[in-house]
Amino acid sequence: MTPTLPEGVERRPLAGEEHLATRGPPVYGEPTDGTWRAWDPGRSKLGAMLDLGVETGLAGGDSVLYLGAAAGTTASHVADFAGPTYAVEFAPRPARDLVGVAADRGNLFPLLKDAREPATYAHVVEADLDAVVQDVATRGQARVAALNRRFLADDGRLVAAVKARSEDVTAEPGDVFEDVLAELEETYEVLATERLEPHHDDHLGVVARPR
Ligand code: SAM
Repeated sequence: MTPTLPEGVERRPLAGEEHLATRGPPVYGEPTDGTWRAWDPGRSKLGAMLDLGVETGLAGGDSVLYLGAAAGTTASHVADFAGPTYAVEFAPRPARDLVGVAADRGNLFPLLKDAREPATYAHVVEADLDAVVQDVATRGQARVAALNRRFLADDGRLVAAVKARSEDVTAEPGDVFEDVLAELEETYEVLATERLEPHHDDHLGVVARPR
């Protein structure tokens, strides 16, 4: 079966090659064609998941909480096809760039917050969201997902990239993923997993829904 790309994400010829693409103002020097801009899966774990054919459940127009937005590379593409996109990042330096990216996008709301403390942004982020997209690259990635489950609708989706080395630099990535998935299963039902090579080494893409 051909996996579904969210509405607003297409594979298009750009600069002589086929690329995943969304429509919006360019952010990181990516190739463009009119309003379309390439989405580089080498710079984006969510882009890699879509490129590898993972069925994320994202549909286009979704309401999204994005955890670990950094400078907004991926969050900008999400805001191009999604509805309201709340982007949490706790490091002030990348958050400054994120604010610049959000200035061009009326539906992207940057939050300089710690994703382990959802109570600090619960007054801003709406309830019953369609998706939590997570790329926090920190120890305790399953816990971050569990803590932010409160924002998701019962039929919502967690779309997470788990970085093995953030949990344990010395352990086998496969063992780390097993542990993270076991913890995640306490709060979520895991629907799909996919290693993100060749785009990102030792990362696991996970799609899950709340229990
Ligand atoms: N998702 C980004 C993208 O594709 O454009 C890249 C994210 S980078 C791999 C991970 C980010 O998570 C870093 O910017 C880091 O500061 C942030 N981060 C890690 N722990 C966090 C936490 N507890 N709360 C908020 N942000 C966190």
